[in-house]
Amino acid sequence: MPKSHSPETMLAQALGEIEAEFGGVSPPIHTASTFIRAPDNSYPTGVVYGRDDNPTVAMPERLLAKLEGGARALLFASGMASAVALFETVPVGGRIVAPNVMYWGLRKWLLDRQAVGRFDVALADLHDIDSAKAAISAAPTDLVWIETPANPLWHVVDIKAIASLAHEAGAVLGVDSTAATPLLTQPLSLGADVVMHSATKYLNGHSDIVAGALVLKAGEGALFDAVKAQRHDAGAILGHFEAWLLLRGMRTLHLRVRAACQGAQMLAERFANDARVSEVLYPGLPSHPQHAVAARQMQGGFGGMLSVRVRAGEEAAIRTAANVKIWKRATSLGGVESLVEHRASIEGPDSPVPGDLLRLSVGVEDPQDLIDDLDQALG
Ligand code: PLP
Repeated sequence: MPKSHSPETMLAQALGEIEAEFGGVSPPIHTASTFIRAPDNSYPTGVVYGRDDNPTVAMPERLLAKLEGGARALLFASGMASAVALFETVPVGGRIVAPNVMYWGLRKWLLDRQAVGRFDVALADLHDIDSAKAAISAAPTDLVWIETPANPLWHVVDIKAIASLAHEAGAVLGVDSTAATPLLTQPLSLGADVVMHSATKYLNGHSDIVAGALVLKAGEGALFDAVKAQRHDAGAILGHFEAWLLLRGMRTLHLRVRAACQGAQMLAERFANDARVSEVLYPGLPSHPQHAVAARQMQGGFGGMLSVRVRAGEEAAIRTAANVKIWKRATSLGGVESLVEHRASIEGPDSPVPGDLLRLSVGVEDPQDLIDDLDQALG
């Protein structure tokens, strides 16, 4: 399929992948863990062994690389594994600058590794450019990590501005773009070096696999080799069936993301002035502190994720989550079904997340049903 096709066409047709022998319109699952050598000991197809090479895994990798405008993508066994593969390229004793509020599991991993001396981690409010400048210039920095919009307060980071700060400091910029998806933001075009996705979320979209991805821009050959070596050595590869499900899920990414953005915007506007809610955190609201940045770097919507702060406090927030009938009380995000979660209970006492906050992942149901359900649950 020519490069000039729109993302919708690339997604719907999975870059034109088919099953070649019989002309099946759905590509097959390649289950082999090893591939036959030619008599001269060479591998004519370049496909050698399942830990590095699987034609089914390569299909969503190609599609994701195209969507992000990257040179190459690598899939991993989880979003965590993909981010860790990048973090592990930082030398022992190196320095990582990351957001104060970000996906909790990665924040914990970074702080745990700092505690055992693996590297220095500086956490800062990277959505505030002065704080970002101070944090990045405070000491020689190897990697700047951002998440935008960032879990679960939905701060938006100005990727272009952070990319120039990171590059002035000689650091690599990695972006967790899970919530934005490749459709709403393309971080590489804004100067990032690496994009990461928890493909468990929107890319797959059906809450039935765990997967992760890194996409690297052209010219990052050494970094690509380093993260590929991490995947090879640590072995956190994606299985062929999961890769096939991922590709199938991606075929409707544009439809799901569009529906989620519309639903989230409706919910945000409905509850923004509700007396039972002290604050709605959503980049699509003009009152959001980084709304202007979001409007500049997100196209087609502001994502399907938002949080509400329940005015009556933590117990009322937990009670609200207990009262929902359509929303599912579950962790994760980006699936077709809408989820609600009291994040402070999950993250524990070290969490920077307020106790009165409920995180909402908007799926593809009728937004009015979701609004009515939250309305009754708030009591
Ligand atoms: N990044 C973000 C923004 C996430 O929400 C998550 C998971 O919740 C991860 C990374 C980790 O992904 P995974 O659960 O696929 O390892």
